[in-house]
Amino acid sequence: MQQVAFLTQHGKVPLLTEALAALGWQIQAVSGFDTDLLGSFAGERPRFMTAAECALRKAALAAELSGSAIGIGSEGSFNAGPYGLGTLNQELLCCVNIDEGWAVTAVAQQLCSARSWQLTEAAMLQTILPTIPDGQLLLVKQGSRLEKALTPAQALLCCEQWLAKGAVTLEYDLRAHCSPERQQVIRLAADNLRQRLQQLCPRCHKPGFWPELPLAGLPCADCGLPTSQPRGLRACCRYCDYQQDFLHSSGFADPANCPQCNP
Ligand SMILES: [Zn+2]
Ligand SMILES: [Zn+2]
Repeated sequence: MQQVAFLTQHGKVPLLTEALAALGWQIQAVSGFDTDLLGSFAGERPRFMTAAECALRKAALAAELSGSAIGIGSEGSFNAGPYGLGTLNQELLCCVNIDEGWAVTAVAQQLCSARSWQLTEAAMLQTILPTIPDGQLLLVKQGSRLEKALTPAQALLCCEQWLAKGAVTLEYDLRAHCSPERQQVIRLAADNLRQRLQQLCPRCHKPGFWPELPLAGLPCADCGLPTSQPRGLRACCRYCDYQQDFLHSSGFADPANCPQCNP
Protein backbone atom coordinates (compact mmCIF):
# COMPACT_ATOMS: atom_id res chain seq x y z
CA MET A 1 0.00 0.00 0.00
CA GLN A 2 1.17 3.51 -0.86
CA GLN A 3 0.88 5.83 2.18
CA VAL A 4 -0.87 9.09 1.29
CA ALA A 5 -1.24 12.05 3.66
CA PHE A 6 -4.48 14.05 3.80
CA LEU A 7 -4.59 17.40 5.59
CA THR A 8 -8.05 17.61 7.15
CA GLN A 9 -9.71 18.67 10.37
CA HIS A 10 -13.22 17.38 9.97
CA GLY A 11 -12.96 13.61 9.65
CA LYS A 12 -13.05 13.47 5.85
CA VAL A 13 -10.61 10.54 5.54
CA PRO A 14 -13.34 7.83 5.31
CA LEU A 15 -14.92 9.74 2.39
CA LEU A 16 -11.77 9.16 0.29
CA THR A 17 -10.82 5.69 1.47
CA GLU A 18 -12.91 3.61 -0.90
CA ALA A 19 -12.27 5.62 -4.09
CA LEU A 20 -8.50 5.71 -3.61
CA ALA A 21 -8.09 2.14 -2.31
CA ALA A 22 -8.54 1.16 -5.98
CA LEU A 23 -5.12 2.78 -6.61
CA GLY A 24 -3.55 0.82 -3.74
CA TRP A 25 -3.49 3.97 -1.63
CA GLN A 26 -3.95 4.14 2.11
CA ILE A 27 -5.10 7.56 3.29
CA GLN A 28 -3.86 8.89 6.61
CA ALA A 29 -5.00 12.10 8.27
CA VAL A 30 -2.37 14.74 8.98
CA SER A 31 -3.13 17.04 11.85
CA GLY A 32 -1.01 19.60 13.65
CA PHE A 33 -1.75 22.43 11.27
CA ASP A 34 -4.68 24.79 11.64
CA THR A 35 -6.15 24.81 8.12
CA ASP A 36 -8.27 27.80 9.16
CA LEU A 37 -5.05 29.83 8.88
CA LEU A 38 -5.54 29.46 5.12
CA GLY A 39 -9.03 30.96 5.39
CA SER A 40 -12.09 28.96 6.38
CA PHE A 41 -15.24 29.11 4.31
CA ALA A 42 -17.27 29.96 7.43
CA GLY A 43 -15.82 33.41 6.93
CA GLU A 44 -14.05 33.62 10.28
CA ARG A 45 -10.83 34.62 8.51
CA PRO A 46 -10.54 36.44 5.22
CA ARG A 47 -9.35 34.36 2.29
CA PHE A 48 -6.29 35.37 0.37
CA MET A 49 -6.17 32.45 -2.07
CA THR A 50 -8.64 30.94 -4.55
CA ALA A 51 -10.22 27.61 -3.58
CA ALA A 52 -7.91 25.76 -6.01
CA GLU A 53 -4.78 27.48 -4.62
CA CYS A 54 -5.94 26.66 -1.12
CA ALA A 55 -6.42 22.95 -1.95
CA LEU A 56 -2.95 22.84 -3.57
CA ARG A 57 -1.33 24.55 -0.57
CA LYS A 58 -2.98 22.05 1.80
CA ALA A 59 -1.86 19.10 -0.36
CA ALA A 60 1.74 20.35 -0.31
CA LEU A 61 1.54 20.90 3.46
CA ALA A 62 0.17 17.35 3.93
CA ALA A 63 3.20 15.90 2.14
CA GLU A 64 5.61 18.23 3.95
CA LEU A 65 4.23 17.62 7.46
CA SER A 66 3.96 13.83 7.06
CA GLY A 67 7.15 13.21 5.07
CA SER A 68 5.06 11.30 2.45
CA ALA A 69 5.72 11.76 -1.25
CA ILE A 70 1.99 12.13 -1.89
CA GLY A 71 -0.27 14.65 -0.17
CA ILE A 72 -3.94 15.57 -0.56
CA GLY A 73 -5.76 18.77 0.35
CA SER A 74 -9.45 19.60 0.10
CA GLU A 75 -11.45 22.77 -0.16
CA GLY A 76 -15.21 23.22 -0.23
CA SER A 77 -17.25 26.26 -1.18
CA PHE A 78 -20.91 27.27 -1.26
CA ASN A 79 -22.22 29.76 -3.79
CA ALA A 80 -25.54 30.76 -5.32
CA GLY A 81 -26.68 28.12 -7.82
CA PRO A 82 -27.31 28.65 -11.54
CA TYR A 83 -29.77 31.53 -12.22
CA GLY A 84 -29.50 32.36 -8.50
CA LEU A 85 -31.50 29.25 -7.59
CA GLY A 86 -30.46 27.18 -4.60
CA THR A 87 -26.95 26.73 -3.25
CA LEU A 88 -24.18 25.06 -5.21
CA ASN A 89 -21.66 23.07 -3.17
CA GLN A 90 -18.32 22.64 -4.93
CA GLU A 91 -15.63 20.35 -3.53
CA LEU A 92 -12.04 20.34 -4.74
CA LEU A 93 -9.47 17.66 -3.96
CA CYS A 94 -5.86 18.36 -4.91
CA CYS A 95 -3.22 15.64 -4.93
CA VAL A 96 0.51 16.40 -5.22
CA ASN A 97 3.40 14.02 -5.71
CA ILE A 98 6.58 15.72 -4.47
CA ASP A 99 8.96 13.02 -5.78
CA GLU A 100 7.48 12.88 -9.29
CA GLY A 101 6.67 16.61 -9.49
CA TRP A 102 3.00 16.77 -10.40
CA ALA A 103 -0.32 18.00 -9.02
CA VAL A 104 -3.84 16.95 -10.03
CA THR A 105 -7.00 18.78 -8.94
CA ALA A 106 -10.38 17.06 -9.01
CA VAL A 107 -13.77 18.68 -8.68
CA ALA A 108 -17.38 17.73 -7.97
CA GLN A 109 -20.37 19.97 -7.49
CA GLN A 110 -24.01 19.54 -6.64
CA LEU A 111 -26.97 21.69 -5.63
CA CYS A 112 -27.60 21.32 -1.92
CA SER A 113 -30.60 22.13 0.22
CA ALA A 114 -28.62 24.47 2.56
CA ARG A 115 -30.76 27.27 3.91
CA SER A 116 -30.89 29.92 6.59
CA TRP A 117 -33.90 31.29 8.47
CA GLN A 118 -34.55 34.35 10.64
CA LEU A 119 -36.80 33.21 13.47
CA THR A 120 -38.97 35.44 15.59
CA GLU A 121 -41.11 32.73 17.16
CA ALA A 122 -40.61 29.05 17.96
CA ALA A 123 -43.76 28.05 16.06
CA MET A 124 -41.87 28.67 12.78
CA LEU A 125 -39.74 25.61 13.58
CA GLN A 126 -42.76 23.32 13.13
CA THR A 127 -42.58 23.86 9.36
CA ILE A 128 -38.77 24.14 9.09
CA LEU A 129 -37.47 21.17 11.06
CA PRO A 130 -39.32 18.45 9.06
CA THR A 131 -37.52 19.70 5.90
CA ILE A 132 -34.01 19.11 7.33
CA PRO A 133 -32.41 16.03 5.64
CA ASP A 134 -31.55 13.06 7.88
CA GLY A 135 -28.23 13.54 9.66
CA GLN A 136 -27.88 17.24 8.75
CA LEU A 137 -26.84 19.27 11.83
CA LEU A 138 -27.68 22.92 12.50
CA LEU A 139 -26.24 26.21 13.74
CA VAL A 140 -28.10 28.71 15.89
CA LYS A 141 -26.86 32.32 16.06
CA GLN A 142 -27.91 35.37 18.03
CA GLY A 143 -25.58 38.36 18.07
CA SER A 144 -22.19 37.02 19.16
CA ARG A 145 -23.70 33.78 20.52
CA LEU A 146 -23.25 30.67 18.39
CA GLU A 147 -24.12 27.00 18.94
CA LYS A 148 -22.83 24.49 16.36
CA ALA A 149 -23.49 20.85 15.42
CA LEU A 150 -27.02 20.74 16.89
CA THR A 151 -29.53 18.02 16.07
CA PRO A 152 -32.98 19.37 15.12
CA ALA A 153 -34.21 18.52 18.65
CA GLN A 154 -31.27 20.42 20.22
CA ALA A 155 -31.77 23.35 17.82
CA LEU A 156 -35.43 23.53 18.86
CA LEU A 157 -34.50 23.75 22.55
CA CYS A 158 -31.81 26.35 21.86
CA CYS A 159 -34.15 28.51 19.76
CA GLU A 160 -36.92 28.32 22.35
CA GLN A 161 -34.52 29.62 25.04
CA TRP A 162 -32.84 32.31 22.96
CA LEU A 163 -36.04 33.67 21.37
CA ALA A 164 -36.91 35.15 24.78
CA LYS A 165 -34.12 37.69 24.04
CA GLY A 166 -35.02 38.40 20.42
CA ALA A 167 -34.74 36.97 16.91
CA VAL A 168 -32.35 34.08 16.16
CA THR A 169 -30.80 32.80 12.94
CA LEU A 170 -31.03 29.09 12.18
CA GLU A 171 -28.70 27.64 9.52
CA TYR A 172 -27.34 24.37 8.20
CA ASP A 173 -23.97 23.53 9.79
CA LEU A 174 -22.03 22.97 6.57
CA ARG A 175 -18.83 21.58 8.07
CA ALA A 176 -18.20 18.21 6.40
CA HIS A 177 -18.82 16.10 9.51
CA CYS A 178 -22.21 17.78 10.02
CA SER A 179 -23.54 17.58 6.47
CA PRO A 180 -24.38 14.26 4.73
CA GLU A 181 -25.07 16.12 1.48
CA ARG A 182 -21.58 17.63 1.53
CA GLN A 183 -20.07 14.23 2.39
CA GLN A 184 -21.68 12.87 -0.77
CA VAL A 185 -20.10 15.62 -2.91
CA ILE A 186 -16.67 14.92 -1.36
CA ARG A 187 -17.12 11.21 -2.25
CA LEU A 188 -17.88 12.25 -5.85
CA ALA A 189 -14.74 14.44 -5.88
CA ALA A 190 -12.72 11.44 -4.65
CA ASP A 191 -14.10 9.34 -7.54
CA ASN A 192 -13.17 12.15 -9.93
CA LEU A 193 -9.66 12.31 -8.43
CA ARG A 194 -9.16 8.56 -8.98
CA GLN A 195 -10.30 8.88 -12.61
CA ARG A 196 -8.00 11.87 -13.28
CA LEU A 197 -5.04 10.13 -11.66
CA GLN A 198 -5.59 7.17 -13.99
CA GLN A 199 -5.49 9.37 -17.14
CA LEU A 200 -1.82 9.68 -18.11
CA CYS A 201 -0.46 12.10 -20.70
CA PRO A 202 0.37 10.02 -23.81
CA ARG A 203 3.66 11.93 -24.21
CA CYS A 204 5.15 12.53 -20.74
CA HIS A 205 3.04 9.98 -18.77
CA LYS A 206 2.19 12.37 -15.93
CA PRO A 207 -1.36 11.95 -14.53
CA GLY A 208 -4.30 14.33 -14.82
CA PHE A 209 -4.61 14.34 -18.62
CA TRP A 210 -8.30 15.17 -18.47
CA PRO A 211 -10.56 16.65 -21.17
CA GLU A 212 -12.16 19.75 -19.63
CA LEU A 213 -11.52 22.73 -21.93
CA PRO A 214 -14.70 23.27 -24.02
CA LEU A 215 -14.14 23.54 -27.78
CA ALA A 216 -16.65 25.84 -29.51
CA GLY A 217 -17.63 25.42 -33.16
CA LEU A 218 -20.16 22.58 -33.45
CA PRO A 219 -21.41 22.96 -37.07
CA CYS A 220 -25.01 24.04 -37.71
CA ALA A 221 -27.30 21.21 -38.88
CA ASP A 222 -28.73 23.43 -41.66
CA CYS A 223 -25.88 25.56 -43.04
CA GLY A 224 -22.82 23.81 -41.64
CA LEU A 225 -21.19 26.99 -40.29
CA PRO A 226 -19.54 26.78 -36.86
CA THR A 227 -21.73 27.83 -33.91
CA SER A 228 -20.80 28.71 -30.35
CA GLN A 229 -22.07 25.27 -29.22
CA PRO A 230 -19.33 22.95 -27.90
CA ARG A 231 -18.11 20.29 -30.31
CA GLY A 232 -16.04 18.53 -27.67
CA LEU A 233 -13.48 18.92 -24.93
CA ARG A 234 -9.71 19.34 -25.07
CA ALA A 235 -7.21 17.76 -22.70
CA CYS A 236 -4.01 19.78 -22.19
CA CYS A 237 -1.01 18.42 -20.32
CA ARG A 238 0.18 21.12 -17.93
CA TYR A 239 3.70 19.66 -17.93
CA CYS A 240 4.59 19.08 -21.60
CA ASP A 241 1.75 21.03 -23.32
CA TYR A 242 0.61 17.97 -25.29
CA GLN A 243 -3.04 18.41 -26.38
CA GLN A 244 -5.73 16.03 -27.52
CA ASP A 245 -9.32 16.82 -28.58
CA PHE A 246 -12.21 14.59 -27.60
CA LEU A 247 -15.12 15.41 -29.93
CA HIS A 248 -18.77 14.74 -29.15
CA SER A 249 -20.30 11.98 -31.25
CA SER A 250 -23.46 13.93 -32.17
CA GLY A 251 -22.18 16.04 -35.04
CA PHE A 252 -24.49 19.07 -35.45
CA ALA A 253 -25.91 22.06 -33.58
CA ASP A 254 -29.58 23.05 -33.54
CA PRO A 255 -30.02 25.85 -36.16
CA ALA A 256 -31.69 27.86 -33.35
CA ASN A 257 -28.16 28.38 -32.01
CA CYS A 258 -26.69 29.33 -35.39
CA PRO A 259 -25.64 32.97 -35.92
CA GLN A 260 -26.31 32.52 -39.68
CA CYS A 261 -29.75 30.79 -39.58
CA ASN A 262 -31.07 32.48 -36.41
CA PRO A 263 -29.20 35.78 -36.05
ZN1 LIG B 1 2.56 15.57 -20.84
ZN1 LIG C 1 -26.91 27.61 -39.70
